[in-house]
Amino acid sequence: MQDLKNRVALVTGGSRGIGAAIAIALARAGADVAVNYRRRSDASASVCKTISSFGQKALAVQADVAIAAEVWRMISEVENGLGPVDILVNNAGIARPQALEEVTEKDWDEVLATNLKSVFLVTQAVIAGMRKRRWGRIINISSAAAMTGGLKHPHYAAAKAGMLGLTHSCARLYVRDGITANAIAPALIETEMVTADMRATPEHIPVGHFGSVDDVASVAVLLAMNDYMTGQTVHVNGGWYMT
Ligand code: NDP
Repeated sequence: MQDLKNRVALVTGGSRGIGAAIAIALARAGADVAVNYRRRSDASASVCKTISSFGQKALAVQADVAIAAEVWRMISEVENGLGPVDILVNNAGIARPQALEEVTEKDWDEVLATNLKSVFLVTQAVIAGMRKRRWGRIINISSAAAMTGGLKHPHYAAAKAGMLGLTHSCARLYVRDGITANAIAPALIETEMVTADMRATPEHIPVGHFGSVDDVASVAVLLAMNDYMTGQTVHVNGGWYMT
């Protein structure tokens, strides 16, 4: 296991929920962390304040990760502020509870762009630097929905399954470059995404309660430290989906 001192992490959607917990946990393990957000600058600033309170550098960086130009600007801001990205956590995501027949083309494009295209864009923007430095970690936050179909969001399930294919491709392409690529597939973790959806109840989960953001963050730290695990999906779901 490698500690994360002198590593720079970027967590997309790090302003709240799972992303905020991962940002803080990576910083506790020694990394300096860029905390990306789309809208909530106050939430991102609060995560950065927590990180700074235990001595690591933190940088709040606004960008819509579904838009290429914003992604490249974000990476440049992170490189100038903290240094090149060693650990990328593709966490930003949106869920939109809709049956297939309710999904418009616009809904489909937004959900796929935010959840899947963003992973391509941000990974592409950092991969050359990781290869040059011969060290990198790509951690993609997928979902149990990729395997189970989820509660009722076909576009979301499709995007999260697409993330797994992209994770496998990155793992294979860069396995000799000191770069690992893994996914985490959570369900149901107590965040705004889950509590805003009235259909999601603890009864869905065999263990009988929602997971906590720290249940996911601890796995992200493990994946950042481990140099032999690649191409894997780690399931964090209270027994909902078993492999
Ligand atoms: P939240 O809704 O609590 O947080 C979502 C985060 O993503 C926010 O920080 C938000 O930023 C950011 N975000 C959304 N869209 C964009 C965008 N276009 N560009 C940049 N940032 C964006 O979600 P969770 O913490 O619950 O989920 C985090 C990830 O985990 C998601 O990918 C989700 O699909 C996945 N997941 C969650 C599960 C759960 O049970 N909670 C289960 C399975 C997977 P801001 O607030 O500033 O707009």
